[in-house]
Amino acid sequence: MIEKKQGCMYCDEVCEHRDSLMIKICDFEHSKLYLFRDQKNRGRCILAYDGHATDLTDLSEKELNDFNKELMAVANAIHRGFNPDKINYGSYADTVKHLHIHVVPKYIDGPNWNGPFSDANPKYLKDNEYQEIIEIFKKELKK
Ligand SMILES: [Zn+2]
Repeated sequence: MIEKKQGCMYCDEVCEHRDSLMIKICDFEHSKLYLFRDQKNRGRCILAYDGHATDLTDLSEKELNDFNKELMAVANAIHRGFNPDKINYGSYADTVKHLHIHVVPKYIDGPNWNGPFSDANPKYLKDNEYQEIIEIFKKELKK
């Protein structure tokens, strides 16, 4: 088990900065799932490892397999719940050095199709609209 690091936006239980960017959807055994507030890609979320790993290479083979299973559960939930044309995955952590994967549904008629997803021109929703999306995730993930 990888320890948490105080002052890290994904490790701290409470973090205003994190809350400004994302909304918690649910916990998995080895990770936490957050809905990205910018929803121009409907269903965009972040899966953050539960422990202060900085890169996939920090994980043991078992930890990597466990994390990957949870990532695939999220991807399958997105396919069922949102029916995108493709899902893109991004792992950057250049400055926020905590292992997290951006899971970004892409739609043929939507933003950045056939290119990298982007943070430009964010689309923010009303609270009840975020809740609707979170409910879809919870239903599909049986959470
Ligand atoms: Zn951390």
